[in-house]
Amino acid sequence: SVELRDIHVKFGTLEVLRGVDLRVEKGKTTCVIGPSGSGKSTLLRCVNRLQEPDSGDLLLNGESVIAADPDVLRQRVGMVFQHFNLFGHRSVLDNIVLPLRSVKRLGKEEAAAIAHARLTDVGLADKAPYRPSALSGGQQQRVAIARALAMEPEVMLFDEATSALDPELVKGVLNLMAGLAERGLTLLVVTHEMGFARSVADEVAFMDAGKIVEQGPPAEIFDNPKSPRLQRFLSQVL
Ligand code: ATP
Ligand code: MG
Repeated sequence: SVELRDIHVKFGTLEVLRGVDLRVEKGKTTCVIGPSGSGKSTLLRCVNRLQEPDSGDLLLNGESVIAADPDVLRQRVGMVFQHFNLFGHRSVLDNIVLPLRSVKRLGKEEAAAIAHARLTDVGLADKAPYRPSALSGGQQQRVAIARALAMEPEVMLFDEATSALDPELVKGVLNLMAGLAERGLTLLVVTHEMGFARSVADEVAFMDAGKIVEQGPPAEIFDNPKSPRLQRFLSQVL
């Protein structure tokens, strides 16, 4: 499981997270939805400590990691970004091999075997020798997901992984993410794809102005929203 307890983040005088509590059980998927600027990305970044909270606690499988070595933490928590952050001057295969070698200290052959296996999982084994620029945006995002999965993280974070993609490429990436949820990975997913949240999430958390305003199973959040703020948000996005 991954758990945030009473997380606060301030940028100057701007309180971006104002006491966030969130827990994703092992094997479950939580989708975070909410308006632009509500703090969704900041929340996600706190989970792998790209953002250090001003106060609060972060737990992985019940153990506090708020003071753990961030490099060690990031091996346990994989993250996929809107812009794939692949190394442009390296082959697709090397994009997966290099972190396995530098972070996990694996040998060349073992790293290459894992990289090929994860590329096969995402349907891109034939793209191994190419530069990322030779791939479509959707394919590049699948490489980024394969790279994160190769590290065997305990939790995967997705921050609007499909928002930069052309519409016809979105579905392939969402299907891949749905498959990970199905396989029992623990996922925390920030998304604007309400259809995905409804069909894949075990829990949906609605954020507004630095707080989780409402949380529950998708059927409750989408069909029976309680807070006026969530009702207004849904009337704008659905
Ligand atoms: P979006 O849906 O547009 O991605 P979001 O919910 O992910 O929005 P955040 O990126 O978490 O929102 O930003 C929350 C607020 O914090 C915004 O007002 C943003 O301008 C501010 N903010 C985020 N990062 C920083 C930073 N490094 N320095 C100052 N302010 C920041
Ligand atoms: Mg964001």
